[in-house]
Amino acid sequence: MCPWTPCKGALSLSEHMKSAAERLRSSVIAACTKRRPEPCYAGSHLVRPLDSKLEDALWLAAAERESSAVILLDLKKNAVAVNSAGGLAYASAAQAREIGVDEMILLGRRKPHAMPPSFLNERYAKTASDTMCFAASIQDPDGVARAVHGVSRFVGLRDIVGRASSAEAAMVGQARNVLHWHRSHTFCGACGSRSEPKKGGWKRLCPSCGTQHFPRTDPVVISAVLSADGTRCLVGRQALWPKGRFSCLAGFLDPGETLEEGVRREVREESGVLVGDVIYHSSQPWPNGPSPQLMLGAVAIAHTEALIIDTSELESARWVELAEVREALRAAAARPPATDGELLMPQPLALAHQLLTTCTELEGVGS
Ligand SMILES: [Zn+2]
Repeated sequence: MCPWTPCKGALSLSEHMKSAAERLRSSVIAACTKRRPEPCYAGSHLVRPLDSKLEDALWLAAAERESSAVILLDLKKNAVAVNSAGGLAYASAAQAREIGVDEMILLGRRKPHAMPPSFLNERYAKTASDTMCFAASIQDPDGVARAVHGVSRFVGLRDIVGRASSAEAAMVGQARNVLHWHRSHTFCGACGSRSEPKKGGWKRLCPSCGTQHFPRTDPVVISAVLSADGTRCLVGRQALWPKGRFSCLAGFLDPGETLEEGVRREVREESGVLVGDVIYHSSQPWPNGPSPQLMLGAVAIAHTEALIIDTSELESARWVELAEVREALRAAAARPPATDGELLMPQPLALAHQLLTTCTELEGVGS
C-alpha cells in the first residue's frame, strides 16, 4: 500500500503515482541533507604542517626529536597499541625507531584544547601544546609491550571506536590508511624501482625516474536502496558473513563513473534491481577494508524489484520492510549488539547503519 497521503481531486492513476514518487524523492532529499554528527573515523583534531615544513628533512628530524608522540600499528592484524586502561598508547619517536618500524609518518600537530583525556594522562603531556603526532607500523608487534612502557596490547580498529575519543579514532584510521598505502606501494609504478618515503610520509619519490607518488584512497559506493513505494529496503549478504548478517550493497567506483552511475551499476550487477534517483547522503573514511577506502553513501530509489543475484558477489539479497529494518538497527546499536537473529544489521560505526537509519526515518513512512 502506498504510504503517502492520498491525492485529492481528479488525478489519474499515473499522475497519482508520479506525485507519490516525487514526494518520496523530496522526502529522501530532505533526510539526506539533514545535519548529522561526524561519522566514525572522521574529525581528527590534528593540523598537518605546511608542505614547506614537511619537505625539510632537518625540520622533520627536529620535530621527531623534540616533542613527538607515536601511535603504533600492527598492519597485519589491523590493530593499534593501547594502554592497560584500554586507551591509545603513545611512544616517543626514539622508542618507535628502537623497536623497529616499517614506516613512520607524521600525522600532524596536536592542539592542546583538542587533547583527549587518554592523551593528557600520558608522559608527554608536559609538551602537549606543541606535540607532533606520528604513526608507525611496527615490525614485531609481539615485542612492543615489553619494550615500551605504557603499551599493554593491540586492539582492532573496529574495537578502538568507543574506547578512544572520536578524534583519536579518526587519527588511528588515517594512520592505518596511509601506512597501508606505503606497504602496498613500495615500488615505483612507472619503472619498478623501490621508491622512498618523503614529506613525512605524504609522498613517495622514485630515485630512478623521479616519479612522485601520493597516498591514494579507493572510492567505494554504498547505497540503501528503497523500493519505489518507500516501504522496503534492499539488503544483501556475502557468504563469509555471520549467519543472518545483511547490509547495504556496495562496491568500488570505476574510473570514469559518477557516484550515481556507480550506485546504479553496482546494484544492477549484484541484485538485478534497476535504480532511478540516487541521492548523496554522506561519506566516511574506512580503515577496515582491504585497501584505504572512502565510502560514498547514497540512498537510491528502485524502479524494479525482481532479484537476479550475482552469486559471485552476494550469497543472497532480500527486500525488508522498514519496520523490520528499524528493529534490527536498534538491536545492532544495543550494547552488547545482537549477534544472532534472523536479520543482523551493521553496527552504528558503519555508514551502512546510518544510511538504513535514514530510510527508516523518512517523513511520511509509518513507524
Ligand atoms: Zn620510477
